[in-house]
Amino acid sequence: MALPNFEENLQKYAKLLVAKGINVQPGDWVKMTINVDQAPLARFVVKEAYALGAEKVIVVWHDDEIIKQNYLHQPEAILTDIPDYKIAETEDHVLNHKVSRLSILSSDPGLLNEADPAKVAAYQKATSKAFRAQMVATQNDDIKWTVAAAAGAGWAAAVFPDLKTSEAQVDALWDQIFKTCRVYEEDPVAAWDKHKQTLDEKAAKLNEIQLDALHYTAPGTDLTLGLPENHIWASGGSVDPKGVEFIANMPTEEVFTAPDTHRMEGVVRSTKPLSYAGTLIEGIEVHFKDGKIVDISAEKGEKAIRKVVFENEGGTGLGEVALVPDPSPISQSGITFYNTLFDENASNHLAIGAAYPTTIQGGTKMSEEELLKHGMNTSPIHVDFMIGSAKMNIDGIKKDGTVMPVFRNGDWAF
Ligand code: ZN
Ligand code: ZN
Repeated sequence: MALPNFEENLQKYAKLLVAKGINVQPGDWVKMTINVDQAPLARFVVKEAYALGAEKVIVVWHDDEIIKQNYLHQPEAILTDIPDYKIAETEDHVLNHKVSRLSILSSDPGLLNEADPAKVAAYQKATSKAFRAQMVATQNDDIKWTVAAAAGAGWAAAVFPDLKTSEAQVDALWDQIFKTCRVYEEDPVAAWDKHKQTLDEKAAKLNEIQLDALHYTAPGTDLTLGLPENHIWASGGSVDPKGVEFIANMPTEEVFTAPDTHRMEGVVRSTKPLSYAGTLIEGIEVHFKDGKIVDISAEKGEKAIRKVVFENEGGTGLGEVALVPDPSPISQSGITFYNTLFDENASNHLAIGAAYPTTIQGGTKMSEEELLKHGMNTSPIHVDFMIGSAKMNIDGIKKDGTVMPVFRNGDWAF
């Protein structure tokens, strides 16, 4: 590691994740998912979480190579058999202990390129079904949760293939993670508060206006998405039922809501690669008709993305529309991270699948049927894909039919 003051910055980062990310309160249970090669970060996180008064910190370890071997060698029936005790344990953590979840992503985006896409899709489906309670609690902000990153060697090699050594690649990726998460600031927590305020102001304005639809235009894109009655634009900060604030994604640059999954018309092209469950998907083109995805193609990874759409309940609908100005620091870095956490924060994006119930008034109290009636997709999946660029314009269409410019040339127009 040749990055100056790496240890010190890693500790600052760990502290930021628990103090600002999941915002640990005395008595909290914390569950962190992390790869074994990130043990130094894990140790700092555990230490900082206890220092803030956590009662119990649970660490769930993963390893890229072992995950890959399991996909290659386990029969599908074994791979997708999630034992009841694992489901019971997860439900105990989530429902009884309101565990705060910290997920640290560091995997090689091409990890599962050799694995059978049908097997990958089947596993994803089995886990989303088995751990549905956890997914619902997370999406409803019933528990505090943060998704953040660490520089894994395989991932760093994919992002910086031109750097000569693995050490240089990992250093370069850590440098980007620290930069985009504001770790180099004197007081990262204060820097986050200021950043959050800017995002909150955009969201507040859009909430006041209550647009009826958004109309996107860009090369290859001409798409109209309706917005549900009483939709809520959200930004960086979320709040749990006790009123404790947390940051769901670090970094974050987005202001987002749910589209009306019954009112979608036109065509949209992706502008950045999507790394989904270890498969790279590029050059996606999606066609919508009468509120449904009727066709989807991709220059790379078409099989995987078609499975997502056509083999999942609600897969032909959208659940998220997010606005990210092209001048955002991640976009301006010009780096493709092959990781949705970063790439979605460089770009306007949409998600195939579930809407966050928090993005409509009263949504967290609605049944799935009620949500769907209000245009909120209740699919078991949620897959973001990036559509923004400096060439994108977005018009907001108000209920009286008048037009308000929302984005011009990839940036806020108001
Ligand atoms: Zn998003
Ligand atoms: Zn999303």
